[in-house]
Amino acid sequence: MASVGDLSIPQRVLLGPGPSNVHPRVLQAMSTPLVGHLDPTFVELMDRTQELLRFVFQTRNKMTLPISGTGSAGMETCLANLIEPGDEVVIGVNGVFGTRMVEVAKRCGASPVEMRAEWGRVFTPEQVQEALDRCRRPKCVALVHAETSTGAWQPLEDMAAPIHQAGALFVVDAVTSLGGCPLEIDNWGIDACYSGTQKCLSCPPGLSPITFGQAALDVIGRRSSRVQSWYLDVSLLGNYWDEGQAKRVYHHTAPISMTYALCEALSLVKEEGLAARHARHKRNHEALAAGLKALGIELVAQEGHRLWMLNSVSVPDGIDEAAVRSALLNEYNIEIGAGLGEFAGKVWRIGLMGESSSQANVLLLLESLEAVLAQHGHPCQPGTAVQAARAGYQ
Ligand SMILES: *Cc1c(COP(=O)(O)O)cnc(C)c1O
Repeated sequence: MASVGDLSIPQRVLLGPGPSNVHPRVLQAMSTPLVGHLDPTFVELMDRTQELLRFVFQTRNKMTLPISGTGSAGMETCLANLIEPGDEVVIGVNGVFGTRMVEVAKRCGASPVEMRAEWGRVFTPEQVQEALDRCRRPKCVALVHAETSTGAWQPLEDMAAPIHQAGALFVVDAVTSLGGCPLEIDNWGIDACYSGTQKCLSCPPGLSPITFGQAALDVIGRRSSRVQSWYLDVSLLGNYWDEGQAKRVYHHTAPISMTYALCEALSLVKEEGLAARHARHKRNHEALAAGLKALGIELVAQEGHRLWMLNSVSVPDGIDEAAVRSALLNEYNIEIGAGLGEFAGKVWRIGLMGESSSQANVLLLLESLEAVLAQHGHPCQPGTAVQAARAGYQ
């Protein structure tokens, strides 16, 4: 009576802000028999997972590992390890996740220097410079690469120079971007970065890949206070994950089945190739945008800075946004996301992440949305959205 099967959980098409659909190989990997967290075969799997993480992060950082927890645990890990009470931390706030970073930084005892932009807009290196000029001794600058609450794509390539010149570390939230668009930890001078498994890596939620460069580890090594979180202390975690260790030191029990899943999901990324995977995300985003335009629905993020994997779109005037989402879910099995914070009630968030980013899903969503909107009195010529998207694919 109480088993999962009794609930008849449906097969949804997951086109929201995460989780995304998972490849059958990942689900199968999760049902692999359990071994102990110090079993030689598991240790080999850890090594393999770390190597694959370095590949997707484009880094040689030794301290690259999955934190046990979702993306927010990665955020907390980066900030808790780098920040000591009283530190000045510049944080870009242009959506929900920058706001969350401010909250976490405050709990670490930091004095956050908030750098603000309108929701949907991105920061320029000049704005970062200006924020740094307001600080006495900035410890780090934290930016969200892919702001999932707005669909804005923050350029990062030119940010490290002013940040490093000020003697600060460059911290990046890549929860939604990793595996969906270019991200080059080493080439772009990023000192610490965290991600999540359930967005463009198309794995269930539960782990948060992180990577720390040498400069960040040096800062941690010079701390005068202990990291206030024992669970997320990277120096302790390193003793378990460091493949140079002759003996792995138990810290906490690794989530075995999730590690199987992550390793498989990362293998799928590698098999597809980063460039091909990014190109797929771009192609499907462009086709979706063309189709939505035909329906009179506009993307809300700053032009030229729109994410491929997360499309925030305006709800047409007079349309009940929640009713449309329910109809998509109940009648078509498609999940899309609602707006958060300032965007609540005003936008839908359509994710095309990882496995979910496919031509079939784009066409299915447009066809379904067209039908639902027509039912709700939004004028649209049947078939035009799908046709516009199809044209985009040719
Ligand atoms: C989803 C997300 C997070 C939080 O990740 P959880 O897995 O929900 O804890 C943080 N930052 C960004 C940009 C995200 O999209």
